[in-house]
Amino acid sequence: MILIDGKKIAAELREELKIEVSELKSKYNKIPGLTVILIGDMAPSQIYVRMKEKAANEVGLKSEVLRYPGEVEEKTILDKIEELNKDNSVSGILVQLPLPKHIDKQKVIESILPSKDVDGFHPMNVGNLSSGYESSIPCTPLGCYLLIKKIEPNLNGKKAVIVGRSNLNGKPMTQLLLKENCTVTITHSKTKDLKGECLKGDIIVAAVGMPELVKGDWVKKDAIVIDVGINKTEKGIVGDVAFDEVSKVAKALTPVPGGVGPMTIACLLKNTIECFKRSN
Ligand code: NAP
Repeated sequence: MILIDGKKIAAELREELKIEVSELKSKYNKIPGLTVILIGDMAPSQIYVRMKEKAANEVGLKSEVLRYPGEVEEKTILDKIEELNKDNSVSGILVQLPLPKHIDKQKVIESILPSKDVDGFHPMNVGNLSSGYESSIPCTPLGCYLLIKKIEPNLNGKKAVIVGRSNLNGKPMTQLLLKENCTVTITHSKTKDLKGECLKGDIIVAAVGMPELVKGDWVKKDAIVIDVGINKTEKGIVGDVAFDEVSKVAKALTPVPGGVGPMTIACLLKNTIECFKRSN
């Protein structure tokens, strides 16, 4: 079984991006800039933002984090985004989710210029991705896609089963694999016979948020299994895939942690650079 080492693959990607940033700097005499807006003091968001900032600095991007108290008015955020939209030194804008309840998430997402939407959540980018046009692609599914391609460069005609249909993961993942000519089944909480569906997959991507949902006898021999889930349990952080069981049947499997997570951050940097290149 191939253990898909997301940490190592993400480090390689960051190295490539670092070289690209320095080439862009020589070519345009400026560097891509990422601005992150962080609202409130939720510990996981603080940690994610620190990791993003560190990774951005490491590859040589200009990075900035704007911190606001949890009770900040929605208008203050929308006004700041409008200012960042007009700022040529800002290539990408990311508003760290979740937001406090009094702030309308969709309104905030839609206020970001699609060309600076490094998360790929703006309806324009969602539509472009599903139409097969150039777009920002949400970072986690993009990371999963790159991991799958490392194992199997030619996905033509493969059966892919996506578990979970969120806008963040399942739906964009479906679009990416469709574009690669996979036959994609998207499953969710109302799917009848989830095990039967999973058993058909040459590729399974699990993005649910349920510890070890996908069992060893749900997986076809030699399938590629990507585990997006991050679940806190008594035995520590586990994914949506029962790792020990599935590792006995799968051809390749991502660990949790150290699989998809590091790729998500590397893909955010990649998206920032893509936004910069498109705007220049
Ligand atoms: P989400 O928005 O809560 O969506 C979960 C999806 O799973 C929904 O479509 C839901 O179906 C489906 N589902 C729930 N119970 C199910 C069941 N018993 N059988 C089949 N499908 C079921 O979650 P998300 O934001 O996509 O996140 C999923 C997981 O990925 C979480 O553990 C999250 O922490 C993790 N995550 C990891 C990264 C990373 O970088 N590694 C990034 C983002 C998220 P319905 O639509 O029918 O409700």
